[in-house]
Amino acid sequence: MTRRIDLKRIHTAHFGTMRAINRQIVLNYVRDRGPISRAEIARRTELQRSTISEIVDSLLEEGLIEEVGSGQSTGGRCPTLLALRANGAAAVGIDIAPTHTTVAASDLAGRVLEREVFETTRDFDKTISRAASAARRLAALSPGLISGVGVSLPGLVNPSTGKLIYVPYFNWRDLDVSRPIAAATGLKVAVDNDANAAALAELWFGRGEVGEARDFVMVFISEGVGTGIIFDGQIYRGEGGAAGEFGHMIIGERAPVPCSCGGYDCWEAFASGRAAVARYAALGGPRQLSFARLIDRALGGETAARKALLETAHYLGRGISNLVVGFSPEIVVVGGRITRAWELVSGVLEEAVMRSVRRDLPPARITPSTIGEEASLMGALSLVLADKFAPVAAI
Ligand SMILES: [Zn+2]
Repeated sequence: MTRRIDLKRIHTAHFGTMRAINRQIVLNYVRDRGPISRAEIARRTELQRSTISEIVDSLLEEGLIEEVGSGQSTGGRCPTLLALRANGAAAVGIDIAPTHTTVAASDLAGRVLEREVFETTRDFDKTISRAASAARRLAALSPGLISGVGVSLPGLVNPSTGKLIYVPYFNWRDLDVSRPIAAATGLKVAVDNDANAAALAELWFGRGEVGEARDFVMVFISEGVGTGIIFDGQIYRGEGGAAGEFGHMIIGERAPVPCSCGGYDCWEAFASGRAAVARYAALGGPRQLSFARLIDRALGGETAARKALLETAHYLGRGISNLVVGFSPEIVVVGGRITRAWELVSGVLEEAVMRSVRRDLPPARITPSTIGEEASLMGALSLVLADKFAPVAAI
């Protein structure tokens, strides 16, 4: 693939670049194919044995990988096998969702080891200080092993400043997220919105078919609708981190609920969990019900709940169809609680994708999130973990 050289980023091509690239290659072989021997890595990569030994030594020293016993001998000594370090935590993630906040510590493979959950309150300082002290407690359980804290928020965020720009659900504006958490934990803090973070988690910790796709779109359904765009194997953030606000694209008129921006024509107002609950209420269901409970009732076979969910899925599909026509992604990943009802809604969503096929575009695959219902928590953890495995910026 040819890419125009970006002269603003040419300082990345320093002396150590080749070594850094080789290091990432070896680390990712251990991550994806481990347990694996040094000889096997050499055979697959054609890197010199001495280069691999040197890199493996430094990865062992940094605690990213470990020796996990011996493999089968092909004559001579049994080779020592290498795998990602499995003991102790490597990252702390804070997922601030509209109803509750989850703080969790995970190992290098993204397995959650410990968690703390509390109700998110409208009081920003209260929510952040509680999250920060939970993060400090979890980090203290694996002293010296945690390299950072990732924070996922349901709104507009500027990842380069660590500040939130606007979180409509709580009407939070222009607030510093990373500073109080960094001060409490002494760790580096990375902040992003929930859909971008979930897309990153799919890329690094999702099933192979998604992780190997260079271009995909993550549609994240919660109280709102968010999209994360993975372009050429990385998050496409746009200027100031504001790309992907497709929740506000115009889908119709007179939605069942107002969008978080106040409009009644936005995708979010038609396809979010809130929209589904409002449809259910219009059919006689209770007004005060969580989207998760509505899904339970639909799965239990309750007619009105099924109807509300399927109508919501229809509008979800409409928006996805627009994204497919505009982006032609390999895959559209749908994340959030709706994935639990995939069997019920997938037919409606597939129909939407067929609309682009009729326009002779390559068919995009549509798939439920492969990292489960907790996509935004996995996303928060990935903001720290992906950094460890990502290659150095290419020029
Ligand atoms: Zn809107």
